[in-house]
Amino acid sequence: MTMTRRHQFLRQVYKVIMKRSFFILLTAWAATITVWVSTMLTHSISSSSTLSTTPGIKTAQWGSNVTISYTDSSFTFVSDGIPNHARQAEYIVPKDGVIIPTPDTAHTVADPTVAQNYSFSIPLLPMKSAAPTPTNLGAIGVMISGAVLYNPYEADNKTIAKLSNFTVKNANGREVSFLDSCNGHPTPIGQYHYHALPTCITSVVDGQSSPSHIIGVAFDGFPIYGDRAMDGSKITASQLDFCNGITSATPEFPNGIYHYVLLDTKDSTSSIRCFTGKVSTNLVSFIKKTKMPGMMSMQHTSNHV
Ligand SMILES: [Zn+2]
Repeated sequence: MTMTRRHQFLRQVYKVIMKRSFFILLTAWAATITVWVSTMLTHSISSSSTLSTTPGIKTAQWGSNVTISYTDSSFTFVSDGIPNHARQAEYIVPKDGVIIPTPDTAHTVADPTVAQNYSFSIPLLPMKSAAPTPTNLGAIGVMISGAVLYNPYEADNKTIAKLSNFTVKNANGREVSFLDSCNGHPTPIGQYHYHALPTCITSVVDGQSSPSHIIGVAFDGFPIYGDRAMDGSKITASQLDFCNGITSATPEFPNGIYHYVLLDTKDSTSSIRCFTGKVSTNLVSFIKKTKMPGMMSMQHTSNHV
């Protein structure tokens, strides 16, 4: 009897423990699911942007050579690529077979800028990606002048254009600069582009010591600005993230927006080094095409710039 009672008692205890364990497990499981769902929601909110860039794109001072059209999710930039501002009469290009020109391996030519056939569709709702993507050689964004933006580097993807800026004497003994006063220049095949703050654009669209206005849009959809904050103070590299981005108010987005800032610096902070956002498939295919070696007619991978 004693043994049976003890046995029954133990069975009771076991049942109670099992019941409680089940509820404890159920509670723990529910808590885990709640944490997981809230983490996913927070992550999806922080890793994407629901802010449309449309107000900025609509008020941007696009040049007369630029046509902007809209769909629900993107805008298309069509341009001849020729900037609507003054350029040098001559530019420096590398001698044949030279990838990174120096004063000894370059010569001057009449401005080689020629019309391009640009048509880029760029998202209106830029989405941040989990990790930044290094910017490619060639075009990485469109500018209100009608020309395109390049990353800070030359064709080896490491020599900084602003740092290696130099001059070469032309046939008349006049100094010709590698980058012009707008921090831009054409590739040897005529694709005009910037590697840093295009001061000749910002001097027109921004007042003296006034906030920077939108001057372009990167291929991931995030807007591009000059180096002045809302109070007119100069933005420095230390205020920007690794991609040259910052979240702050701008004249077009007074409640704040993530955007890139171009600087007039002599290091890699002069232009966008990585995309914070996702780059759409059509632009990735353009980038891939322009990165193919030997496609000289497409861009400047083999000798420039
Ligand atoms: Zn260049």
